[in-house]
Amino acid sequence: MTIFENVMDRIDTVAEVLGLSDNDKEYILKHKRVSHATLKVNGKEYDAWRILHNDDLGPGKGGIRYHPNVSEDEVKSLSFWMSIKNSLAGLPYGGAKGGIKVNPKELTKDELQELSRKYVDAFADVLGDNIDIPAPDVNTNAEVMGWMLDEYEKVKGAHAPATFTGKPLELGGLETRNEATGFGGWLVLREMMNLKCINQKMYCPPEHEHVTVAVQGFGNVGKYFAKYAYMNGLRIVAVSDSKGAVYNPDGLEINKLIEHKQETGALKGFKNSKDITNEELLELKVDVVAPAALENQITEDNADKIKADMILELANGPVNSKADKILKEKGVTVIPDILANAGGVVSSYQEWVNNKLGNYMDKEDVLKLFEKIMVDAAKKVYIESSTKNTDLRTAAYMLAIQRILKAKHARGR
Ligand code: NAD
Repeated sequence: MTIFENVMDRIDTVAEVLGLSDNDKEYILKHKRVSHATLKVNGKEYDAWRILHNDDLGPGKGGIRYHPNVSEDEVKSLSFWMSIKNSLAGLPYGGAKGGIKVNPKELTKDELQELSRKYVDAFADVLGDNIDIPAPDVNTNAEVMGWMLDEYEKVKGAHAPATFTGKPLELGGLETRNEATGFGGWLVLREMMNLKCINQKMYCPPEHEHVTVAVQGFGNVGKYFAKYAYMNGLRIVAVSDSKGAVYNPDGLEINKLIEHKQETGALKGFKNSKDITNEELLELKVDVVAPAALENQITEDNADKIKADMILELANGPVNSKADKILKEKGVTVIPDILANAGGVVSSYQEWVNNKLGNYMDKEDVLKLFEKIMVDAAKKVYIESSTKNTDLRTAAYMLAIQRILKAKHARGR
């Protein structure tokens, strides 16, 4: 299923539960601004987009992706997703996304910088700290944000650090951004276990400490999630990257595994572990499977074989909507991506606030506020799902869509 098909399927479910009018459903699926440009670097042309889905709650917010598969449909679906994610976290943002259809591995660093600057030249009028605020996404990073900010400030003739987040520290970036998504995923899982303990007498201490976890993907998100879950006593029995997975039913020493990956470039061959495949990892009998790599990893083809009690969606869209239905029947709890990986955008929000105020919070205060936003969002979703008797994803979408529609009505639109 494409991202677009998944989005449509889920909106149909939520519209039915919420009893949305046709007008409101149409409104929530409509994009406010679709900007396209053709960027030229060294004689080659690249399609580029910046798309604002909705800005009822505040300026657009969402990353810029460099990938050969980027298309208008994909950017539109991802911008919709950002509106939902930002609304659910209670942030003062609408949703937006950008992308360039390019394989960045085929460009030199100078060409990449030129392409990034041309992106900003093309879209400068629709970007701004109160208009639409980009951030890194697939194949873009702090360095790219640094180039883009520099170009934007040149075009506008003024400093405007809050226009981009995920920047280098030297340009007003946030020290905690790198670990934020993985750390946020851990906070959400911890809160879900606490709530399951209170309400269902599951995962209560000391059982808490015997919880077993399998993590698919050991990049930025998977690695830091595994680090915090391990530091808090959970047993991480399997971890994978694109080359395969390592497994030890007694638990992997994650701090040593991080060192092993740094030294050898791979997870395979880690001492006291057995190599397994990525498919086997997803189907392990563990308490929690945390897909943190790619979309569409759990589909109608393998949902039946999942033996975990919970799936923590750290990646964007790792479970498709057909698999959702199978997992629900099996009683598997899916903690949805728009909640589980919201740590990235929450951290971006904190960077934006710092930049706008010109008064930077210290690390302790940043982490305290971050934890509060993540835990409050998890609680809200759990309570909505219990009171409305829906799965967590439907509950999360319901809360997010209602908040956007309330803002729209308050504007008299
Ligand atoms: P990354 O590139 O740092 O890491 C991806 C990891 O997945 C790597 O370890 C890679 O080896 C592994 N991988 C790739 N193909 C795999 C496969 N077939 N099987 C198992 N592992 C595989 O990316 P990331 O930043 O960690 O992002 C991961 C996911 O989380 C993406 O879906 C991304 O959109 C989402 N996400 C990331 C952030 C963020 O702040 N980085 C925020 C929100 C959502």
